[in-house]
Amino acid sequence: MFIDVAKIKLKAGDGGNGAVSFHREKYVASGGPDGGDGGRGGDIVFQTDTNISTLQDFRYKRKYIAKNGENGGARRCSGKSAESLVVRVPKGTLVKDAETGRLIADLSTDEPQVILKGGRGGWGNAHFATPTRQTPRFAKPGTPGEELEVQLELKLLADVGLVGFPNVGKSTLISVVSAAKPNIANYHFTTITPVLGVVDLGEGNSYVIADIPGLIEGAGEGVGLGHQFLRHVERCRMLVHIVDVSGSEGRDPKEDFRIINEELHKFNPELSERPMIVAGNKCDLATDEQIADFKDFVEEQGYDFFPIMAAIRYDVDPLLNKIQEMLSKLPPVRQYEPEPAPVKPVEEFEKTKVNITNHDGVYFVEGDWLLQLINSINFDDYESLQYFQRVLNNTGVIDALREAGVQEGDTVSMYDLEFDFVN
Ligand code: GDP
Ligand code: MG
Repeated sequence: MFIDVAKIKLKAGDGGNGAVSFHREKYVASGGPDGGDGGRGGDIVFQTDTNISTLQDFRYKRKYIAKNGENGGARRCSGKSAESLVVRVPKGTLVKDAETGRLIADLSTDEPQVILKGGRGGWGNAHFATPTRQTPRFAKPGTPGEELEVQLELKLLADVGLVGFPNVGKSTLISVVSAAKPNIANYHFTTITPVLGVVDLGEGNSYVIADIPGLIEGAGEGVGLGHQFLRHVERCRMLVHIVDVSGSEGRDPKEDFRIINEELHKFNPELSERPMIVAGNKCDLATDEQIADFKDFVEEQGYDFFPIMAAIRYDVDPLLNKIQEMLSKLPPVRQYEPEPAPVKPVEEFEKTKVNITNHDGVYFVEGDWLLQLINSINFDDYESLQYFQRVLNNTGVIDALREAGVQEGDTVSMYDLEFDFVN
């Protein structure tokens, strides 16, 4: 079974906690703070692997959890950061937020991509020592790693998509023009897996053809086999529509052509705009009139027509050359742009309580929503920073700090953020 969708759960590692510790040495009364920082939690990283061609493995293993960072230790020992957990996927896999459908990443290059960030390590008490605060008896916990359920969707990367009714000769064609060896038989739906084949024209000219399993009427609406495979033509730079011109199975080739085009359009109207050429197969079984009639029919609609006999590779070269010529003028295989996480309007944050504790003049502010907010902010970006400040104001965090007794210049600490309070 060819599995090209899967839903899995991901959890990045938590950051390790900072340590509270004081330097101890024989005969030395009391040393300074030397608690080390916690290590970073492991990220969840996705990486393409050419040895994997389906999402099958994700049917069995559905949870991916990266390791946590280690806690800090005495003598300023930092906790070890955890390694990233690398999830290997076939090339062309889209990673989406399962709940919202937001596209997080398109794994169509060899670049590894960080999907979830591990938590940050908490600071040990050595970090909090100042001339006026020589014995800080506190440290920070690490922040939790991100957690998310994602939907994986494989959308194959091929230059050319072969489409057509079952049994018209798609698999036969790909088998005679490339090294791919799909199942070929004289009954419908022998191909239940998209097959990729590389056509090598020599002199560095080569392209990838995808044999998309038979489409049948209603495929665009999810009826019958074929619908689940249509996603794989979505990225193709052009389509080759194969038709049995002989009508050897009792169907009318013109009707076949119309039906498949309709299915493509129903699935995604963009597919109707995709450059397409038509190959009329099984010419050995057709009369010259049948071929000429069908040729006129498709050319009137603006498509180039190539009569072939795939089974004996007859007249296939002009078709292959035409494909090469068209590809040389077409944009590269489409990659999808990840969508940025939506920014929640400031007004939509409810006035929520945060937990404020004062340790030696450092005000710790904590709250689940606050951590989420901080994780989503890019603190190098001025606008994001302003947004953050407005949220703190609107939600009453600043007021709560004042109530807790914060004075101008005191240190405010929110997870791994630290700033001086300014009135
Ligand atoms: P697919 O379902 O579109 O992949 O079709 P296949 O490639 O499996 O072919 C279906 C049947 O058509 C097989 O029995 C092939 O041998 C046969 N076939 C393919 N090309 C030709 C051709 O040029 N002439 C004739 N007569 N039969 C062909
Ligand atoms: Mg086939």
